[in-house]
Amino acid sequence: MKCSFCKSKIENGRGKILVKNDGKIIYFCSSKCEKNMIKLGRNPRNVKWIKKQKK
Ligand SMILES: [Zn+2]
Repeated sequence: MKCSFCKSKIENGRGKILVKNDGKIIYFCSSKCEKNMIKLGRNPRNVKWIKKQKK
């Protein structure tokens, strides 16, 4: 599974899972990502510390 914010891989047993009111499930690799998305409402594109993923 992948972090819904920074798109990095999350290993089993790690990270956080959040279920929204509308039934969407969001995964976070860290509380840092959770904070940024939930509290700050940031768009991942605008966050400098996220490295662009290579395909
Ligand atoms: Zn993340």
